[in-house]
Amino acid sequence: MQSVDPEKAEKADNARDAEDFDVVVIGGGPAGSTAATLVAAAGHRVALLERLPQTGFKIGESLMPETHRTFARLGMLPRLAASAFPRKYSVQFYSKSGRASAPFYFQETDPGEGSVTWQVLRQDFDRMLLDNAREHGVDVRQGATVREVLFEGERAVGVSADLPGIGGMGGIGRRELRARVVVDASGQSAILGRRLGLREIDPRLKKAAIWSHFEGALRDPGIDEGATLVIHTAEQRSWFWYIPLPHDRVSVGVVGSVEHLVRGRAGDLAQVFWEEVAKCPPLGPRLAGARQAMDFLATRDFSYRSRQVAGDGWVLVGDALGFLDPIYSSGVLLACSSGEFAADAIVAALAAGDCSGARLGAFGPRFLAGMDAMRRLVYTFYDPDFRFSKFIRRFPDCRLDLIRILRGDVFDHDFSRLFEALALTAVPDEPGEPRDLRRAGGALRAAQRPLVVERPTAAARPADRPRLPHRLLRRRRGGARAAGAVRLAALERAARQGRARMTLTVIAVYFVAVLAIGALSHLRFHGTSEDFFVATRSLGPALLLLNLFGANMTAFAVLGASGEAYTSGIGVFALMGSSSALVIPLIYWFVGTRVWEIGKRRGYLSPVQFFRERYQSDGLGLLLFVVLNALLVPYLLIGLAGGGIALAQITHGTLPKWLGSLIIVAVVLAYVAYGGMRGAIWVNAFQALLLLILGAVACWVVVHQLGGIETAMRRVAASHPELLVRGHKIRPLQLLTYTFIPLSVGMFPHIFIQWLTARSARAFRLPIAVYPLCIAIVWVPSIVLGVLARLDFPRLAAGVTANSMLVRVVEKHSPALLVGLLAAALCAAIMNSFDHQVLAVSTMFTQDIVIHYGFRDRLGERARVIVGRLFVIGILLVAYLLSLVFDPSLFKLGVWCFTGFAALFPALIAALFWPRSTRQGVAAAVLAVAATWTWLVLSQWRSPDYTLGGTGILPVALVLAVSIAALVVVSLLTRPPGAETLAIFFGPFADGAAPAAAGGPAEAGAREPAAGREPPAPAAAAG
Ligand SMILES: Cc1cc2nc3c(=O)[nH]c(=O)nc-3n(C[C@H](O)[C@H](O)[C@H](O)COP(=O)(O)OP(=O)(O)OC[C@H]3O[C@@H](n4cnc5c(N)ncnc54)[C@H](O)[C@@H]3O)c2cc1C
Repeated sequence: MQSVDPEKAEKADNARDAEDFDVVVIGGGPAGSTAATLVAAAGHRVALLERLPQTGFKIGESLMPETHRTFARLGMLPRLAASAFPRKYSVQFYSKSGRASAPFYFQETDPGEGSVTWQVLRQDFDRMLLDNAREHGVDVRQGATVREVLFEGERAVGVSADLPGIGGMGGIGRRELRARVVVDASGQSAILGRRLGLREIDPRLKKAAIWSHFEGALRDPGIDEGATLVIHTAEQRSWFWYIPLPHDRVSVGVVGSVEHLVRGRAGDLAQVFWEEVAKCPPLGPRLAGARQAMDFLATRDFSYRSRQVAGDGWVLVGDALGFLDPIYSSGVLLACSSGEFAADAIVAALAAGDCSGARLGAFGPRFLAGMDAMRRLVYTFYDPDFRFSKFIRRFPDCRLDLIRILRGDVFDHDFSRLFEALALTAVPDEPGEPRDLRRAGGALRAAQRPLVVERPTAAARPADRPRLPHRLLRRRRGGARAAGAVRLAALERAARQGRARMTLTVIAVYFVAVLAIGALSHLRFHGTSEDFFVATRSLGPALLLLNLFGANMTAFAVLGASGEAYTSGIGVFALMGSSSALVIPLIYWFVGTRVWEIGKRRGYLSPVQFFRERYQSDGLGLLLFVVLNALLVPYLLIGLAGGGIALAQITHGTLPKWLGSLIIVAVVLAYVAYGGMRGAIWVNAFQALLLLILGAVACWVVVHQLGGIETAMRRVAASHPELLVRGHKIRPLQLLTYTFIPLSVGMFPHIFIQWLTARSARAFRLPIAVYPLCIAIVWVPSIVLGVLARLDFPRLAAGVTANSMLVRVVEKHSPALLVGLLAAALCAAIMNSFDHQVLAVSTMFTQDIVIHYGFRDRLGERARVIVGRLFVIGILLVAYLLSLVFDPSLFKLGVWCFTGFAALFPALIAALFWPRSTRQGVAAAVLAVAATWTWLVLSQWRSPDYTLGGTGILPVALVLAVSIAALVVVSLLTRPPGAETLAIFFGPFADGAAPAAAGGPAEAGAREPAAGREPPAPAAAAG
């Protein structure tokens, strides 16, 4: 073995360490590694000194999705993708009552891969970052403790550090490393911040934390397995984080004020921790049976910030610059982002030969503005009156901004709308906008005025809330610029208010018009139940077309189409538009006309009556009644709640959701309860026309503003070419199975009843011929606008959120009047189907339950109308109350309702065209649909992908196949229906040649006692 000469070794070390570096980084956490790697990648000489010889345990395990951007630059994504770190898709909050909010899925604002992040073991994660830094040429030295930052005058010129391996034999020696820039990334040690007296503890966030790891603790299934849970204790004096980690570990920690968790608290860390667990009901079951995997650790007073970002020759990043409460897991994101921003500033400064504080700290305003957005939400979280779920219900248009902050997308976004809303929810002052400043400009007050409907501003901020020193604000914002910004914000808010006023006026005019039309329709009311429920089967072609079209063209079809186009491109027209344009007219032709003919002959008012008589079964009728209503009522509720949310969005919260829904309910109540089916028909004709005209106008205006269709599409082709590729992102199996979805139209009770309203079979000709054109007139603009929205909003996306694209893009490019008209058109689309659905449920309750089971002989015509009206009132009331507690995550139930109705369609086809089908066969099909549907909904509910196992096959294909199989097999195995029944539906009278009176269901009931107790209204009355 060769002996080492200590003197020689030290000389060699000195020679090495005397080298100058461009940059020395103190600390090898995420901030230091990021800054060092990116500067080295730009070709500079960088040394990174980390105190610990090996990466060890650290807190800070849950990442935010926006770290993805920095990881991509660092080249870290392949390592992370190959790691065992659990994927994190969402965060979920539990209130003190133990109630969970709907998970906030990050994909709601962006469906891309950057919306999924990781829950990490920090020793592994930090090691990956350091290895990566080495690979990028950083001189990483672990076990190297910086003792001092060296200054010449005001300028930092290097560090003095205890370095390992000095003097040979693994000894440690003090050395000076000189550098043009010193980066302090020493975390909470904040070497420079402490030395220069820059640290300021945030007085509002004087918290302490106690935590440990557990093995075998409960995890949620599916994509929620890696979700971060934030759980309040019952008295709301502390909260727990619950972070699933690799190797069956879960990190659990409690955070509370120093007074609550530390002072005046007897017992050790373990005792305090378990006492808090006992106050947190949702946590107990999760930890029952879990094993503690390490000792308890604790820290306190961790929220602070530095008064300065950089000085001559030095810059602060990560925790050394500032740290926010861990509530939103923002630490690593802020560390990586500040490391990245600082690296860019350093590279620019080195290139310019100017390493002054002004240059090195150039990233400060952008970074601190983002951090302040986060800070504002942290303060909000600690407000005892604040609940996420409540806030979202009240300000649904703020959901996206909230998610944006929760995913860490804070640096380049204007959150003024969110902060305005937060200002109304008893949230303390934001440090950057002291109360005096608000008053001086008066801007916020004015902006708040329309929203005060719900809560007076006076109650918004208790005066005794502590605030951060204004000094910070002045330093950061700078006098004239701040005043300018405030004035600009005030102008923007005033413009927004002006638009909101115009929108409200147009909506009000629209509602008055609707009520007037409803009232006029009543002049033609005959007073009979048949008139109330099916307008005496008097509809001509034009009214039938407008109503059939309007009832299918819901607001969510229109908004959903544009949202889908925004996400997936023009191929959406093939997926949604063309299939409905072809399938729906075919259904009207083959099924609608036949239903109309039999319905008129037999005097039916509801689909249940038809099935009951066709299969001579009361039981089957009841089963269908239950299943049809079970599918229709959620659909109706979604329409109403969605209507309230859409109105709140388009009026920027001026009409809160509860008020918007209430207005819709009140107006529908007025014209449906008063005018019955005729009221709905007249109003809907007007609404469908509005929709058709305004869709085209809005599209024309926006395209015109964007420089014409060719220019606009060229811009899309340049920035998002994938959106213009037909079929890109739409899988063939998805396209194929999507054509089954419009089959649902055949089993919608409200469409079935509308078929019955036609004057003659010939009235169907126009709807059949023109329906595809109407689809094109509404859907082409929706899809074009959805695609064009990418030019203005390149990063907003998918699901509920992408559905707001249409409104946003029209708002951006159109005069206030058009925005108001669009809002009216959206109301039209909402009410078009909602009123018919309410009437359909009322018809089924009145006809299929009240009259069928007992009151047939006791209720005269007038009484039947009164019962129908009472049901309309009752259904609207219940729907409204339910809409108040509606959880937006239930929106996806709408898609499933379509699936259910489509899968019931074979029953109608069999009833009309297959004489051999039996009541048992149809019952088996309905039950099989109910069972498969329920199973699929429950098992797929938490999956963001609606297709079966990610194959592209829509669930409707499976449920439909099960339905057909059950129908055919059971029908063939059971006794065929009697000849008399078949004669009614397929015999000589079935072609409609028989006089209506001859086939009246009263006689049918007499001929076939099994048909049940109720013969529907005599056909003579129907004529
Ligand atoms: C209770 C609690 C919970 C948290 N939970 C989360 C979370 O869930 N998600 C999240 O993103 N963040 C969380 N954080 C924050 C997170 O831990 C930090 O924000 C993050 O680690 C900061 O990274 P950094 O690189 O700035 O500092 P650090 O990761 O602390 O790295 C600093 C490095 O500098 C080294 N060092 C210190 N002094 C010297 C010296 N003199 N010489 C050489 N080296 C030195 C240290 O050894 C350390 O490795 C939490 C924080 C707390 C207090």
